[in-house]
Amino acid sequence: MKVLVPVKRVVDYNVKVRVKADQTGVETANVKMSMNPFDEIAVEEAMRLKEAGIATEVIAVSCGVAACGETLRTALAIGADRAILVETDADLQPLAVAKLLAAVCKKEGPGLVILGKQAIDDDANQTGQMLAALMGWPQATFASKVTIADGKAQVTREVDGGLETIKINLPAIVTTDLRLNEPRYVTLPNIMKAKKKPMENHKPADLGVDVAPRLKTLKVTEPPKRSAGIKVPDIKTLVDKLKNEAKVI
Ligand code: AMP
Repeated sequence: MKVLVPVKRVVDYNVKVRVKADQTGVETANVKMSMNPFDEIAVEEAMRLKEAGIATEVIAVSCGVAACGETLRTALAIGADRAILVETDADLQPLAVAKLLAAVCKKEGPGLVILGKQAIDDDANQTGQMLAALMGWPQATFASKVTIADGKAQVTREVDGGLETIKINLPAIVTTDLRLNEPRYVTLPNIMKAKKKPMENHKPADLGVDVAPRLKTLKVTEPPKRSAGIKVPDIKTLVDKLKNEAKVI
């Protein structure tokens, strides 16, 4: 069974995000970029399925600018067998990414697609669900445990009230939650090996997909600044202030 893992290049989670002066988006020039953390978890899960003899091949896919190739090299260094870059300078929204991934699924015929539950840049939490709808495949989102057996996936999902366990037929779409696994560190020998692994390059037009945006961003703004805190001399004053001054927002 092939496992497809879509990985997104995003602003590194350690970087303090700054909004561009013209409010059209966030600053990405000269900013450290990395693989979306939920996608690292997805690649790790795919590797575990390969090590368990369930997956035969792990294919990483990224859609976006040429530099997404670096993100794919990271996936290859974690252990993916090969990579597919769908290269475009266009601003890709989740529906466009889902259509590109659907085109890749039709070409590759994976038994399982594991995505992150959300990309930490736009927090959309849409691509996996849209891909499932476009393919007509079952989906199990927010996975914290995945077991594959007899052509089915048993997935434990993190839901508001606790944990929900469902069984779905393959091929299927799974999206990862934080507690699914702890991704391995990438070793130097594996980074070297990754340079020789195959990476295909396609353009959206080769896949017959129109990636024109459907939504228009009106403006992006910083969250309101917090006002400075104060120090209180003792607990009595603290309790008094909590009782008489603190407000529930
Ligand atoms: P989102 O719906 O944007 O929050 O993203 C959810 C997941 O979809 C991510 O964790 C990735 O696995 C996948 N994804 C989103 N955008 C891309 C992209 N440009 N290239 C590859 N995978 C993506």
